[in-house]
Amino acid sequence: MGAAPVDSLPFALRRGFYNETVKFSNADLHCHSTVSDGTLAPSVLAQRAHDHGVALWALTDHDELGGLAEAREAAQALGLRFVGGVEISVSFAAQTVHIVGLGIDPDSLVLQGGLCQIRNGRDLRAQRMAQDLESRLGLADVYAGALRYAGNPALLSRTHFARYLVEQGVCRQTHEVFSRFLTPGKPGYVEHQWAGLADALRWISAAGGVAVIAHPGRYRFNATEEWALLEQFKALGGQAIEVVTGSHTAAQYRKYADLSLEFGFHASRGSDFHSPGESVCDLGRLAPLPADVVPVWDLLH
Ligand code: AMP
Ligand code: MN
Ligand code: MN
Ligand code: MN
Repeated sequence: MGAAPVDSLPFALRRGFYNETVKFSNADLHCHSTVSDGTLAPSVLAQRAHDHGVALWALTDHDELGGLAEAREAAQALGLRFVGGVEISVSFAAQTVHIVGLGIDPDSLVLQGGLCQIRNGRDLRAQRMAQDLESRLGLADVYAGALRYAGNPALLSRTHFARYLVEQGVCRQTHEVFSRFLTPGKPGYVEHQWAGLADALRWISAAGGVAVIAHPGRYRFNATEEWALLEQFKALGGQAIEVVTGSHTAAQYRKYADLSLEFGFHASRGSDFHSPGESVCDLGRLAPLPADVVPVWDLLH
């Protein structure tokens, strides 16, 4: 009699069948390049990931796949295992939620079309953000100023505005900008309708990828809303959540490890690295996943 098919085994026992788990313990499956709001080019990130001992790496630019070819080529040249990724902006329960897609096919027309729709909404939002900052802070040419920081004009984001406000001496650091501006209720914040959760999951699935809730600890949901997000995400075919990320505390690693086990989600690990000068957590420099979770890389072969 042969071994039982892996899929018939209880969820928590499956990981024993993947000896590569150990090999990929330094996986970093979330970061940004100049194609979205990072400051390093995809090939520079590949080198940095390699230098930091990353064994499995994903580039996950916001709403954009344009950096994946360069990233894959650079990773291949370094012998670094690469996974194509994306971080999709979604509106859920009146907040913005980020859904990472891992192992996606960048040639998927469904995914490309969906992301193109999201990018198209960014420009008007950016113009409104600029107007609000100009009228409330007495600054000039904020749109043009932010655009100078955007490596990809189709992806003007709050981060680029934050860099311009630092340049203008309004704040000393980008994370100070986000505590005083650009967030709900503060100058420069503009309500925006992103993709629906179901849309994002449909696009990721059409591209053959695994959907992951990014940095779940960062949202301002109450417990009921958070539970609803996890339940709806699961009902829509979502398979993983980030447990260890640059934006979680150690207590949150444990909280989301427990939630991953409770919901039967795989667990992901990613720095969310954007820039050497801005990001607290660098590529590959994160705590390991807790030993009892089921790593998302089990799904990525
Ligand atoms: P956007 O997609 O234009 O709404 O910009 C979102 C980006 O702003 C995130 O991906 C982060 O890079 C950045 N961001 C948001 N909140 C903060 C924060 N509190 N500190 C630093 N960066 C932030
Ligand atoms: Mn970002
Ligand atoms: Mn995010
Ligand atoms: Mn991110």
